[in-house]
Amino acid sequence: MSESRFDVIIQGAGMNGLVLARALALQGWRIAVLDTQPVQRWTEADGGLRVIAVTVASERILQRLGVWQDMRRISPFRAIQAWDGVAGGCVRFESAQIDEPHLGHIIENRLIQTVLFDRLQQDDNVSFLIPAAVAAIEADDERARVTLRDGRRLQAKLVVGADGVNSPIRKLCRIPVDGYDYRQSGLVATITTELPHGEVARQRFLPDGPLAFLPLSDGRCSIVWSQPTAEAERRLALDEAAFCAELTEASAEMLGQVTGCGPRGAFPLRSQQARSYIAPRVALIGDAAHVIHPLAGQGANLGFLDAAVLAEEVERAGKAARDIGGEAVLRRFQRRRRGDNVLMQATMDGFHYLFGSGAPWLALPRSAGLNIVDRLPPLKAFFMRRAMGLVPDLPQLAR
Ligand SMILES: Cc1cc2nc3c(=O)[nH]c(=O)nc-3n(C[C@H](O)[C@H](O)[C@H](O)COP(=O)(O)OP(=O)(O)OC[C@H]3O[C@@H](n4cnc5c(N)ncnc54)[C@H](O)[C@@H]3O)c2cc1C
Repeated sequence: MSESRFDVIIQGAGMNGLVLARALALQGWRIAVLDTQPVQRWTEADGGLRVIAVTVASERILQRLGVWQDMRRISPFRAIQAWDGVAGGCVRFESAQIDEPHLGHIIENRLIQTVLFDRLQQDDNVSFLIPAAVAAIEADDERARVTLRDGRRLQAKLVVGADGVNSPIRKLCRIPVDGYDYRQSGLVATITTELPHGEVARQRFLPDGPLAFLPLSDGRCSIVWSQPTAEAERRLALDEAAFCAELTEASAEMLGQVTGCGPRGAFPLRSQQARSYIAPRVALIGDAAHVIHPLAGQGANLGFLDAAVLAEEVERAGKAARDIGGEAVLRRFQRRRRGDNVLMQATMDGFHYLFGSGAPWLALPRSAGLNIVDRLPPLKAFFMRRAMGLVPDLPQLAR
């Protein structure tokens, strides 16, 4: 059977795989994008349950990829407010304090995926193979030869695993992961509240896990309520009135009564880091490489940066007529991304344990810490820039 030739094969048409596909398509490479599932389309009436807080760095990436203007429903937030739900310490970050118009946007995952997918349909150099999945990869000095589960054969210089938390590409390459289950689920829903959200993203740290209210442009809020999995299952089964009553209480009425709630869903939460992001002619990006607690809304944003950095290293190698799937490219990609991702993961784990700890001796210093940050403008500016994704060594696409 003949082999179809590509420059890059990307497994996974999630947000991160599609961001990478578009970045590489703009450079002119021949790309194959594989997925076992068709992209679930966003519609005005059904945007799906999941949203992400998109950082300013990710916004710039989406702008440079020519898709930002097609995001039809985006909700800017101009402030972030966080409370200790036990001892009451509080910090508020305002975009005006650092002369920025906003700190980020809330956007439905499905909308990001749909807009990228539709844009990529117009790129002649991108082929979607759906449904398809990689069954085997053989790498040599020249190329990677890929066999799909249905027996088709492809070849490319580089294969990318953007195939999520259980990444089959990572498993094929026998790359181990370090990680653990938080034994929590993130309960998500869209809710209506008595008081307006005022374009503020709010988070209340509770002993069972953080509760976030993310402001939407239609006046509602999207919630991410991290809690023990058994509690999440119990709350999924409550009727709407009982659920709203529990949510009102957990939120300490930060937006008054919760008056209505749409469909609910819960997603298991993990912390996970691949020991390596690379193998011969293979790179891992997004959740395939790292998974973090959603409390700071950074998971997908880190994946966007992985995609932008990998695309930048591929471009650099291409311009120098070097091998785009060679070891030098892969090593530079890993060096630029893994440390940053490990640091963010450790920070999220630290927050999770600090605020989830029932130890009474921790409550006061923890709460005092929030109050101190609130009164120190330089420290606040530092945290705000991190939350906006404005980290050192940003790829060109995010500058
Ligand atoms: C409750 C919750 C809230 C969150 N909030 C935020 C937030 O505010 N901000 C943020 O940045 N992040 C957030 N995240 C994290 C974010 O959702 C993920 O990091 C992101 O969706 C991962 O995208 P991905 O493209 O890497 O993987 P995925 O979205 O998992 O996509 C992987 C793709 O690979 C495909 N695939 C799998 N196996 C195969 C195979 N064998 N062959 C072919 N294809 C395959 C799948 O079908 C899928 O399309 C949150 C996460 C949770 C759970």
